[in-house]
Amino acid sequence: MRMSKLFARTLREAPSEAEVVSHKLLIRAAYIRKLMAGVYSWLPLGWRTLRKVEAIIREEMDASGAQEVRLPIILPADPWKVTGRWETYGELMFKLKDRHEREMGLGPTHEEAVTPLVAGEFTSYRDLPVNLYQIEWKYRDEFRPRFGLLRVREFLMKDAYSFDRDEEGMRASYAAMVEAYRQIFGRCGLDYRVVEADPGQIGGDVNHEFMALAPIGEDEFVYCENCDYAADIEAATSRPPEPAADGELEPATKIQTPGRSTIQAVSELLGRPASALMKCILYDAGGRSVAVLIPGDREVNDDKVARAMWPAPVRLFEDEDFAARGFVKGYVGPQGLPADVTIIADHSVRAGRNWVTGANEVDHHVSGANVDRDFRVDRWEDVAQVRLGDPCPRCEGSLRLAKGIVVGHTYQLGTRYSKALKATFVDEDGTEQPYQMGCYGIGLPRTIAAVVEQANDEAGIKWPKALAPYDAVVIPTNMDVPEVVDAAERLYGELGSSGVEVVVDDREESAGVKCADADLIGYPLQVVVGKRGIQAGKVDLKVRATGVRTEAPLDGAARSAKDLLGAAP
Ligand SMILES: [Zn+2]
Repeated sequence: MRMSKLFARTLREAPSEAEVVSHKLLIRAAYIRKLMAGVYSWLPLGWRTLRKVEAIIREEMDASGAQEVRLPIILPADPWKVTGRWETYGELMFKLKDRHEREMGLGPTHEEAVTPLVAGEFTSYRDLPVNLYQIEWKYRDEFRPRFGLLRVREFLMKDAYSFDRDEEGMRASYAAMVEAYRQIFGRCGLDYRVVEADPGQIGGDVNHEFMALAPIGEDEFVYCENCDYAADIEAATSRPPEPAADGELEPATKIQTPGRSTIQAVSELLGRPASALMKCILYDAGGRSVAVLIPGDREVNDDKVARAMWPAPVRLFEDEDFAARGFVKGYVGPQGLPADVTIIADHSVRAGRNWVTGANEVDHHVSGANVDRDFRVDRWEDVAQVRLGDPCPRCEGSLRLAKGIVVGHTYQLGTRYSKALKATFVDEDGTEQPYQMGCYGIGLPRTIAAVVEQANDEAGIKWPKALAPYDAVVIPTNMDVPEVVDAAERLYGELGSSGVEVVVDDREESAGVKCADADLIGYPLQVVVGKRGIQAGKVDLKVRATGVRTEAPLDGAARSAKDLLGAAP
């Protein structure tokens, strides 16, 4: 490709609305252009990168045994009404009517289309398993599209749907997809973690998010510094501390703590660390009072409390609840709470003794409070918010917190959709059974944005070779020197005919402009042909990812370039 012909006008400045680096760079380097909020045109450079991601995904999906199909973008409303998602998707779905007033929608996902398709064809247990995938544009009417390609309304997505005879088969199909995803994101050069996602209040659903590490990511998660453990902040657990060894139990003593209704105030008054105090946090669970006990230096995770009390709806006490139910706000303790209050203690409470906690009386606390002797615990649960440095639940390592961009998601759906849509096959014993399903998504534009978030510097993008629109650029720095132009053209031809995807920057621009554009666009290798170099029989080579520059003899420069490319990340 000749830069003089390439449909790409780079920009010195990013649009003012661009907040994140991937958005800024992909606009500036002429990969994408905005048509309207959350809808982008892909220019030749961007389209080539998108096609490269697509090719990687297609190879790995095919290798996993999944079969590519193509489902329509425009979908009938009826199956969506049957599964209830016409309502629950709500305004996130683009809805329209045809001239006969029939309701339709633009596909945000395709369970309602693929499930009836399979049920109409593969009707025997002998046909299963089958896994169908497509790489197709999806539509979601995001309330607030932003961050360039990270939150858009039109995006290319790989979606796959597995159909199995039983749960064991579904788990095997799921494991194969997780492995394929590892291959895909590894080949894209992403630093990512496979994160156990929040199972939600219904529980039981296995699902994972493939999270690219990025400080601008909207999702917080926890991962182990040592092993594979990673989980959403809502779902993360840590290894519970060892129970306290036997030791002397102090007598429970009421102490005056006038005006000290917070952990910090009591801690300061008594000169004891917050970890020696015990919080007693009150929730309402469907009308029932729930007291949650946790050491004073830790926080309760409301999602975990909600899961522990499911299906009752759970909310924190409001001011009026305390008096109405006979509790003293700021001085609540578990001693003597009536039987209709459920007392849940976090496992970490086992590790301490002689707690300081509220005395259920204004301006008073109790010290020396001990489990069983002074208060009961109805249930021991993991209700603590995981924090930095907590011990990993799976190994001896410790946990870290990070933010990430979700680039892929895998779900074990079970029979949720097949039952709703009455999609069944005939099993070996002649009975009709619903398919056990899994679904698996990858957002391609997001993956590209995540790679750019991880691989950039002030000058521009540092593509891994696998995703770069071209492998290399040849830059003649003096267009008025025929020897320079000739040498550059010869190198461009040699590289192209040896299989390197190469651009020659044959524009009448200064060396500075050309080199800045090469850095911005992010070709993995730059071959700079200048007047002085030619006189010395040399060219300059620069590997974009490392910034390392080398000289190579003009004769054999194509060979050197290929070698450097071969070794580049
Ligand atoms: Zn670990």
